[in-house]
Amino acid sequence: MPETTNPPPIVGLHHVTAIASNPQRNLDFYTKLLGLRFVKRTVNFDDPGTYHFYFGDDLGSPGTILTFFPWPHATRGSLGVGETSATAFSVPTDSLAFWESRLLIAGVHAQRLATRFGNSVLGFADPDGMRIELIAHEDANPSRTPRNSDVQSENAIRGFFGVTLCQAGFESTAEVLERMGFRRAGEEGNRYRFSADGNAFGRHVDVLVQTQLMHGRMGSGSVHHIAFRANDDAAQRYWREELRRFPLNVTPVLDRTYFHSIYFREPGGVLFEIATDPPGFSFDEPLESLGESLKLPPWLESERGAIENVLPTISLHYQRSIDDGR
Ligand code: ZN
Repeated sequence: MPETTNPPPIVGLHHVTAIASNPQRNLDFYTKLLGLRFVKRTVNFDDPGTYHFYFGDDLGSPGTILTFFPWPHATRGSLGVGETSATAFSVPTDSLAFWESRLLIAGVHAQRLATRFGNSVLGFADPDGMRIELIAHEDANPSRTPRNSDVQSENAIRGFFGVTLCQAGFESTAEVLERMGFRRAGEEGNRYRFSADGNAFGRHVDVLVQTQLMHGRMGSGSVHHIAFRANDDAAQRYWREELRRFPLNVTPVLDRTYFHSIYFREPGGVLFEIATDPPGFSFDEPLESLGESLKLPPWLESERGAIENVLPTISLHYQRSIDDGR
């Protein structure tokens, strides 16, 4: 049975986690303007006085999930080597004009960037300065357009396209990505692309070599870490052993309620995670009402009252319009 010797493939990104400041502004930008679904309203398990927001497609599918820790008083981060410098979403081929005008009307300055490996790219910053890109391309993946968004499926964000890592060099990061099953897919100037096989969302990792930059500083607008997908716990155990032998320091498995996680820092300085697909975001609330109420892990449930008292009040745009219509 030769197939049992094949490593369980890492098909792409699971989620990207970043730091924001104002929670309501962050929530409105990603749900109301970009049309993502608010798939989980919870707290930072290590700092329960802070929210942890999860945005994604209608089902909260792995490969579509952008998460934030919104710290209201966070100072702005600065971008440098050893960081994820851009997070890219996949959008339909002819949708960039729609997005350019939607962003302009909202007062967001969006720019057509140079064509990248044959694809058109629209770049802009979120309210905290985080770099977002929309990459227009054909995609075989069916899109799960969020139910509470006014963006029609012909324009809607589908899920991740990939990320760009800003590095002082690319070889040592390349070795880790290749060990994880990514293949060198192309090179344009100082941009080196690594791609996972298949057609999952978030299967591209670009390393952008910028030797002139210093190390960055984490703050609002910074990506804290990027997470790759493991099919299940057994696949995650396989990758944990594989990366430990690399050798890299890999954390034990941590229970993040909606997935199980291991973390390690790749040699270029970016924090990587491998997260399991199960159990997913409908683990503790029905798919129909994802994100509408605060969910806490069992060990924090007894502190719910105190936690709700310190968390800033937030509201969802589609619930505000229902309220306004009354
Ligand atoms: Zn994570």
